[in-house]
Amino acid sequence: MEYSVETLERDLKNTRKYYGSGKTKEAPWRESQLKGLHNFLVEKEEEIVTALKHDLGKHYVEAFRDELGTLMKTLNLATKSLKNWMAGKEAKLPRIALLSSAEIVPEPLGLVLIISSWNFPFGLSLEPLIGAVAAGNSVVLKPSELSPTCSSLLATFLPTYLDNNAIKVIQGGPEVGKLLLQQRWDKIFFTGSARVGRIVMSAAAVHLTPVTLELGGKCPALIDSLSSSWDKEVAVKRILVAKFGACAGQACIAIDYVLVEKSFSSTLVTLMKEWIKKMFGENPKASNSIARIVNKNHFMRLQNLLTEPRVKESVVYGGSMDENDLFIEPTILLDPPLDSAVMAEEIFGPVLPIITLEKIEDSVEFISSRPKALAIYAFTKNQTLQRRMVSETSSGSLVFNDAILQYVADTLPFGGVGECGFGKYHGKFSFDAFSHHKAVARRSYLTDFWFRFPPWTLDKLQL
Ligand code: NAD
Repeated sequence: MEYSVETLERDLKNTRKYYGSGKTKEAPWRESQLKGLHNFLVEKEEEIVTALKHDLGKHYVEAFRDELGTLMKTLNLATKSLKNWMAGKEAKLPRIALLSSAEIVPEPLGLVLIISSWNFPFGLSLEPLIGAVAAGNSVVLKPSELSPTCSSLLATFLPTYLDNNAIKVIQGGPEVGKLLLQQRWDKIFFTGSARVGRIVMSAAAVHLTPVTLELGGKCPALIDSLSSSWDKEVAVKRILVAKFGACAGQACIAIDYVLVEKSFSSTLVTLMKEWIKKMFGENPKASNSIARIVNKNHFMRLQNLLTEPRVKESVVYGGSMDENDLFIEPTILLDPPLDSAVMAEEIFGPVLPIITLEKIEDSVEFISSRPKALAIYAFTKNQTLQRRMVSETSSGSLVFNDAILQYVADTLPFGGVGECGFGKYHGKFSFDAFSHHKAVARRSYLTDFWFRFPPWTLDKLQL
């Protein structure tokens, strides 16, 4: 739907007025919106998985694991915890404030804007929406134009499950995004590229609007030679599924490249080839288990990365592509030049460079000398190396011996540091991302001290 500035401003005025009525702050309202989201996911499951297949070629299992299942888990937690999250938490005051009490009371921020990305079109839209409504806000959600079937499904059906006076879905691309950013918001929650993140932050500065930026970057993994063949296989399978089995590598926390000791590299490549075949068959295109590239532009971008002559020479597995089907085969590169685009840009696709190092310990320096990553994965049982990774590298998350696991843990804050963004969400962190934690203090009239009042005399300090 085309949105004029006038229509948008009228709608937002009404939404603000509705927020002002206090309705969205009530616990029953919040519960009913969470229930509405739950019903949407249950009743529209078939339409949701069909849309994900249509826009991104995701298999039902992948769609269920990454979007429906994860969202149901979040909704269950939010519904179960809502009263507890909403309750003020008692706080202590200094002893000098005799006969007093204090608490920290969460209050909604107001009218919030959520702009999301296309790779997990439901998860990245509804995960923050759950936090926003649980916290009692009014919300405008703008999903991505690059996953149009999914966005249109959200725009068509969410209003029938949710309170449309408080929650609106607006479809559109950068033009609509720009229009939205010209408005005044009480919070902007953005998922997308660092380029647009900068635009969002500049727009937010005009009204001093707080922002959460969930951005991307290059997430490294390291694998040491792990002692047993079982450990090696488990590590390789986990690396491959994290790269090729979640939206074909089009994920912000997908492994971007792998660091390995030179002496272990040929064993690693052999194991990877073997397990790619076991997971995706001899003909991965026909396997149905690998998602498609979102559109022609991204396909061309990835094709350009791969066809750079020096990079092409480094292909040790895969490399085939089908533009009509937007398919790129799981592809492994061994030691592409570090100054090539594939090692400079976020790959966001099914291409996995392996970079060899003399010693696996060198990976600490390799990683810490590059921009901070959204996630680092370290497949190692070496306790000294684990400790060094914790203390000498910085990233949104750090996972040992697995990957992507952190995304589904409600108990862990999900978000970036440095150029991959700031602000946290998931679980209770989502509620906090859309709340102001107000300090409330109460004092009795029964006691008072003369020395806290003027006239100031030095003896008052000596008490
Ligand atoms: P993008 O920045 O191009 O678009 C994101 C959203 O911003 C879309 O809804 C788009 O319509 C909107 N937009 C684009 N231009 C705009 C403008 N000028 N003004 C206002 N809105 C505008 O990013 P993308 O292609 O959707 O996503 C890819 C990037 O997102 C990657 O870098 C990836 O790592 C990152 N990402 C991060 C996370 C995370 O959770 N940290 C999740 C998914 C994707």
